[in-house]
Amino acid sequence: MRAHRRLRESLGVYVLGRLDGDELLTVQAHVARCRRCREEVAELAVVVELLERTRPTARMARRS
Ligand SMILES: [Zn+2]
Repeated sequence: MRAHRRLRESLGVYVLGRLDGDELLTVQAHVARCRRCREEVAELAVVVELLERTRPTARMARRS
């Protein structure tokens, strides 16, 4: 499925919350129907959360 392959490349951006407009709607609609992509999004979300946690943010820098 061509749409599936193309959308998978957008999932990372989607998880980061960087998608908007038509692309965001397209990915959301696909993820809602596609279990594979939902699982992919869930896995990516875990990775992103870990990265966010380990990355020194401005807020954490100010606290230390
Ligand atoms: Zn899919």
